[in-house]
Amino acid sequence: MLNVQNGTVTMGPTDSIRELYRQFGPPKPMGTSAPVKTQPHFFLHRNFLGEQDLAILFNTKRCAYQCKFCALPFKSSHEWVDAEHVLAQFLYVIHEVKHSIGVLERLTVANEGSVFDETTFPREALTQIVESTRVLPRIRKVVLETRLEFIRKERLAELGTACGKKLDILTGFETQDPHLRDVVLGKREPLSAFLKGLDIVASAGAELTTYVLFKPAPTMTDEDAIAEAELSIDYVARECGQREIPFSIRLNPMYNAQGTPWHAEALRSPSYRPPRLTDVIQLAEKKKREGIRVYLGLTSEGLAKDMGTYRAREDFSSDLIKIAITRFNSQTQLKARAADYGASFGA
Ligand code: SF4
Repeated sequence: MLNVQNGTVTMGPTDSIRELYRQFGPPKPMGTSAPVKTQPHFFLHRNFLGEQDLAILFNTKRCAYQCKFCALPFKSSHEWVDAEHVLAQFLYVIHEVKHSIGVLERLTVANEGSVFDETTFPREALTQIVESTRVLPRIRKVVLETRLEFIRKERLAELGTACGKKLDILTGFETQDPHLRDVVLGKREPLSAFLKGLDIVASAGAELTTYVLFKPAPTMTDEDAIAEAELSIDYVARECGQREIPFSIRLNPMYNAQGTPWHAEALRSPSYRPPRLTDVIQLAEKKKREGIRVYLGLTSEGLAKDMGTYRAREDFSSDLIKIAITRFNSQTQLKARAADYGASFGA
């Protein structure tokens, strides 16, 4: 059926809704920079593992690290973005989602880096954003993405008191292998620093969500990738268990981000193959059976071509994506290309 607006024939409702869903629903594109300082790079109101989550990727000064596998800082500002503009971004999003503000259960705050790095994310803005959730009674949890070296017990306590919600620290663990961390990924976060961060998470009574990379080295075989990812998941499980930290794992099949040193290394490696999604699913199933809360990071955040992702492998099919979503991310109703970005802004 045709729709007429101001004398102009436009799309009928089905086509209009399909287009709106594509632009603003789970397939919403990501990967581009915000056009102005008063808007974030990305936001999405989504059903995330059964919770109504508002995830915001703030537009702030770029992450100071240059991890070899990460292209996220490329699109962020070289300049300081002050608290006034960051708060304007937050209010912009809140106004955009105002009709569903009453059902929000979770707020995810990220900036393609570390929101606790006060050289990139203004401290006062973070305080006000977190504090403001107090007037949204259904919000139970505030998720804050950061490298663990930036968290402090006193600051977490301050924010927890300000909002009265549970805090969840979202961070990249990547791998338990020191060589992969230091040399292949250029993470510049020794395991000792990660563990020190876990001590602070525990002492603050916060939760942890952390990424594990599946096949973090371009030279890895499929078999090596499975074994290494399992060791990494078990490492996180053991260390969180010892500290009684509730935790979730986001298992990320490594994508080959354009323009990174990791990308160049993959090009030089004749044996390079992206991860097989079948292997990722099987490992996630095994860990789920062992009682670990695990979900899959199926997006490449708009930063890799399909040839640099699991889509290039011989096992890939749309049915496999459906299996991955149904078994692990089903409550999120995710689309593979965009909606589960929330755990993957950077740190
Ligand atoms: S992985 Fe995180 S810390 Fe490293 S460059 Fe990317 S955003 Fe920065």
